[in-house]
Amino acid sequence: MNSSFTLVLMDWHKVKNTRLMPWKGEKDPYKIWLSEIILQQTRVEQGWDYYNRFIDTFPSIKDLANAPDQVVFKLWEGLGYYARCRNLLHTARTISNEYKGSFPETYEEIIKLKGIGPYTAAAISSFAFGLPYAVVDGNVLRVLSRVFGIQDPIDGKKGKDTLTGIAEKLLDKKSPGFYNQAIMDFGAVICKPALPLCDTCPVQKICVAFKKGLVDKLPVKSQKIVRRKRWFYYFLVEKNGRFLVRQRTQKDIWQHLNEFFLVETTQRQSAKKLMQSQAIQALLQEQRMLIQFVSNEYKQVLTHQEIRGRFFHIILEEKIKLPLNFEWVKAAELKKMAFPKFILSYLGENG
Ligand code: SF4
Repeated sequence: MNSSFTLVLMDWHKVKNTRLMPWKGEKDPYKIWLSEIILQQTRVEQGWDYYNRFIDTFPSIKDLANAPDQVVFKLWEGLGYYARCRNLLHTARTISNEYKGSFPETYEEIIKLKGIGPYTAAAISSFAFGLPYAVVDGNVLRVLSRVFGIQDPIDGKKGKDTLTGIAEKLLDKKSPGFYNQAIMDFGAVICKPALPLCDTCPVQKICVAFKKGLVDKLPVKSQKIVRRKRWFYYFLVEKNGRFLVRQRTQKDIWQHLNEFFLVETTQRQSAKKLMQSQAIQALLQEQRMLIQFVSNEYKQVLTHQEIRGRFFHIILEEKIKLPLNFEWVKAAELKKMAFPKFILSYLGENG
């Protein structure tokens, strides 16, 4: 039998929830999967556009599987967390080759696919196939820790296990997709991270955090993220209207995306010091050049890293030896290539 929380939540979802999203009520596992992958680490308003563009460009999983990597990366551009995009392609090709383009229909098979964890597997299984798996992500953990007054940190094993157990018990086994959508929406529009709408909340009467005045203390998190600081100085080296560009191949952030000539440091550097650095000296080989432009400082914060730096636009007056893995790319071609957001911000303002 369903708990009172489940009944109230489902009633709210049926009668009062007006949150609209293009993938809501969707039964096609491909579209559900795509929306879930796009929405990881992305705000719904931003993800909405990307989702529509992906569906328009690749109406089926086979279309996505057959697309060249760079076309897919270009479409993903700006969403960040590119491992998601690489996994998306990998999984599309696995399903195309090993499952003849049809999404597998069991939780056990779905969770084996690259880039699909328990949350996404539960979402696809319940929405597309009506299987009884509860979604548990940061939103659900927050809602349940407040409603049931769980004070163990939600990023620790004990807290996670307790709340996952509660989530599984609360799931409406007859309508798992409907219930999962209800709790996801409830976390997004009522029991929000900051300023939850307690005054009009339908579960206020049974909410432990509300009764005990713990709403702004829950959920508890134990770990503080320490971000590694990196300085990226990009040199847009131009000769006859072409720029030096390479693809990032190393196992690092922005793998498979493109970039200009990079000098990375662990501290802020002056332009003078950078121009005297070994990397720039080796690049220029004492040839004459003109520093056309030096940008302001740019910054991008990733989950575990903080990237800061500047862009130097350099015009070469003489030929240089092409550095390893670089190619000369016409200015007009740059628009077709996929770059990390850090570089795109500069190109958007100065390109
Ligand atoms: Fe969340 Fe407040 Fe509702 Fe409790 S009463 S579930 S804290 S919105």
